[in-house]
Amino acid sequence: MGGKQITESIRSVSLWIGMQIQVWLVQEPDGITLIDTGIGPMGRSIVKEIERMNAGPLKRILLTHGHADHVGGLKTILDKYPVPVYMHAAEIPYAEGDLAYPGKDKAMSYVAKGILQPLPTLPGRKGELAVLDSLAPYFTPGHSPGHVVYFHAADRVLLAGDLFNAKRGRLIPPRFTPDPDRALRSADILHKLNPEQLQVCHGGAVFSAAAKLDDLLEQDRQAKKMAEQMKARRGKKAKAGR
Ligand SMILES: [Zn+2]
Ligand SMILES: [Zn+2]
Repeated sequence: MGGKQITESIRSVSLWIGMQIQVWLVQEPDGITLIDTGIGPMGRSIVKEIERMNAGPLKRILLTHGHADHVGGLKTILDKYPVPVYMHAAEIPYAEGDLAYPGKDKAMSYVAKGILQPLPTLPGRKGELAVLDSLAPYFTPGHSPGHVVYFHAADRVLLAGDLFNAKRGRLIPPRFTPDPDRALRSADILHKLNPEQLQVCHGGAVFSAAAKLDDLLEQDRQAKKMAEQMKARRGKKAKAGR
């Protein structure tokens, strides 16, 4: 469960349990920002990694969304470092259990109330999210209602939670996604930012992600076209058989 250097200012901590679960530690001039917290047992490894980095205190925790495999380590980390924890305002009622996540029949509390704060927005700019030190958050709903990705402009790395999954450097549409079309539209952020490296929680690094997204969109178009043709053919057969 050790740490791994991703770029000059970003390290990651991963756990493999059938799939990879990854979080990121970003070095700021005066401390560290943690993005996501993995599942419960990862809390201790993350604390150890922060100590090993010896790069100043933990300053804040930024969450991509509220699913259990992204908020599980929170309590252990907060016991050691009582820092502010941010999530998109649209995600908080789902994470705190006031609303059921789309696709789930009942609401469940993943984070106790009083911990989560909404990501700060720019005054007068209709919900546009404020940059926090070296990281710019972008709203990317679909996998969850308030999913957010964080762009490290200096290193050109997009820390993208479950915007995608990945396998051996290939993009895979994210699993457990109730609104895949909206998630795919949110993925347009890859064209906008054109990161050198996309980092996802489940599957690690993807290089040239914008070009790989184009391939994925083309596959999606072909699959939809084929499904429509099959439907039309079935419709004709049904008519002919009448
Ligand atoms: Zn998720
Ligand atoms: Zn996940």
